[in-house]
Amino acid sequence: MAKKQKGRAIGIDLGTTYSCVAAWEKQNGRAEIIVNDQGNRTTPSFVAFTDSHRFIGDAAKNQAAANPSNTIFDAKRLIGRKYKDPTIENDLKLWPFKVVSGVDDKPMIMVNYKGKEKCLAAEEISSMILTKMKEIAEAYMDSSVNNAVITVPAYFNDSQRKATKDAGIIAGLNVIRIINEPTAAALAYGLQKRGNCSGKRNVFIFDLGGGTFDVSLVTIEGDNIEVKATTGDTHLGGEDFDNRMVSHLVQEFKRKNGVDITGTPRALRRLRNECEKAKRILSHTNETTIEIDALFQGVDFRFSLTRACFEELNRDLFEKCMEIAQKCLDDAKMKKSKIHDVVLVGGSSRIPKVQSLLHNFFEGKELCKSINPDEAVAFGAAVQAALLSEDYSFVPPLVLVDVTPLSLGIKVKGDLMSVVIPRNTIIPAKRSAVYFTPKDYISTVTINVYEGERTKASDNNLLGTFPLSGLPLVFKGHPFNVYFELDFDGILKVRAEDKTTGSKNGITITNEKGRLSNAEINRMVKEAALFKEEDKKFKMMVKAKNALDDYIYKMEKAMEDSDVSSKVSPSKKQRIMAAFSEGKALIQNEHETEACVFENYLRRLQNICRPILINKVNTCFKMFGI
Ligand code: ADP
Ligand code: MG
Repeated sequence: MAKKQKGRAIGIDLGTTYSCVAAWEKQNGRAEIIVNDQGNRTTPSFVAFTDSHRFIGDAAKNQAAANPSNTIFDAKRLIGRKYKDPTIENDLKLWPFKVVSGVDDKPMIMVNYKGKEKCLAAEEISSMILTKMKEIAEAYMDSSVNNAVITVPAYFNDSQRKATKDAGIIAGLNVIRIINEPTAAALAYGLQKRGNCSGKRNVFIFDLGGGTFDVSLVTIEGDNIEVKATTGDTHLGGEDFDNRMVSHLVQEFKRKNGVDITGTPRALRRLRNECEKAKRILSHTNETTIEIDALFQGVDFRFSLTRACFEELNRDLFEKCMEIAQKCLDDAKMKKSKIHDVVLVGGSSRIPKVQSLLHNFFEGKELCKSINPDEAVAFGAAVQAALLSEDYSFVPPLVLVDVTPLSLGIKVKGDLMSVVIPRNTIIPAKRSAVYFTPKDYISTVTINVYEGERTKASDNNLLGTFPLSGLPLVFKGHPFNVYFELDFDGILKVRAEDKTTGSKNGITITNEKGRLSNAEINRMVKEAALFKEEDKKFKMMVKAKNALDDYIYKMEKAMEDSDVSSKVSPSKKQRIMAAFSEGKALIQNEHETEACVFENYLRRLQNICRPILINKVNTCFKMFGI
């Protein structure tokens, strides 16, 4: 059993398109979703950069069309991947922001911030979103929060998990556990079902979100929630459905108007926004119209889209979801008929065609919609966070058993994958295996660690390499041991040892596949603090500017009142009016970024106005309804 953490802890669902934060509420004895500063229960996973400021969440998404090349979304699609990864090839063409290949082929996002080009890793963008979620929770709890459980798609591999954990560290969070999204949803569902049913229930969690698709087969019995099998696709979800619509409409626009809008970020962003809206509408109507004024070179765009057309554009993707569902059942060796509940999670599970295919797949079974598909993951993460914290009482004694999504092993002679920990093994797990030197008289063997299901090792994903040296110079076939240790977060450590000589070596898979080094993480932590400081400064500046603007407005209104202005001498009036103009010019000055400049000016203005207006203005404010 893991050690319990001190202090409060939150659960964060770090989604591709939307993120959500929840916390266990002692008073109510349940997890609560925390609303953000806009009153929304989910926050767009968007970060934007401008000449003066950084925006995160709703504020970033709201200005996306006006600032497309500096508005970053989909960072989760890049995290823990290489630039050359074929799964992001198509995304790269459609994203309105620039991504380049960095050191070790790590994808780096280029933005323009405060007039300078800045290069950011996906971890940094994700850390900014996590910071925002942390702040949302802190504002609600009115205290600081450091401990967090963060969810990841079940099918995320080792480097994607680690990169997510790094993002948490950069955000100043103590990541107490990384858990799988469908498992978190199962926890939420299990909690709801607890006490309502007796015996063992086989629950199929179907989680189709914005960027990823996961399915898990879970059994719930009393307080035990056990994942039997999990599978998925880390690049399949609502964003892909939007992409299909965007590509189709780009073609339509080309056919009608003879111009290609690809390469015009603003037009693409506007089209994408409208496509996403249309897609949601088509979940409850049969037809909708996309209308965009002056989409490109002043040409308006109008297109009528039917649900049938949307379904046809995405048919293969929807079918792929069903194939993956079948694979999960096969892995668990369970027949469809043995499933008691099919639980829908993720915004895209609302798509009627997806639901009807799933309904048919499960031979007419009613789909369970009793949990909120947007909130279940964060809810479950908050329950897990409470279970791992000392600070909470009355948390139901749920026991969660999760599995690893991918097989882990090493490369052996002939480029074969020798599996040490098979996929769907319960985590944490420790396994060892004995291997033999492949040649005569070699003192060193190289251990290549892979994850994946292909027979040929090099077709799988190379996680890391390390040497085991100091072997005795003997004939081939000398034995050595390899130990694999998979922790609660699904993160791997590998060691090798020659028992005869006592030589050992090992690695926690780091610095492979472009993972951040400690030095880089430290630099990013410092930068994050700098960003935070700049954000704070900006907020203070806006507050001071608004206060000045407000004061001038109120005073101008007061001066319009004859009762007030009759008491002011013409020369004084002139001075006051000149001061108002000067103040307004200051407010208009985009280059002025210091709060104190506005504060000082406000004070000066108050002094100028004070002797004569002080008593009168309040009456006037009331009169003008201000
Ligand atoms: P993630 O966790 O990957 O960010 P979410 O579970 O929050 O994803 O789901 C967001 C996705 O769900 C988006 O692609 C959004 O367009 C899609 N979505 C939300 N509501 C609907 C709906 N009513 N019909 C179709 N798609 C929807
Ligand atoms: Mg999600």
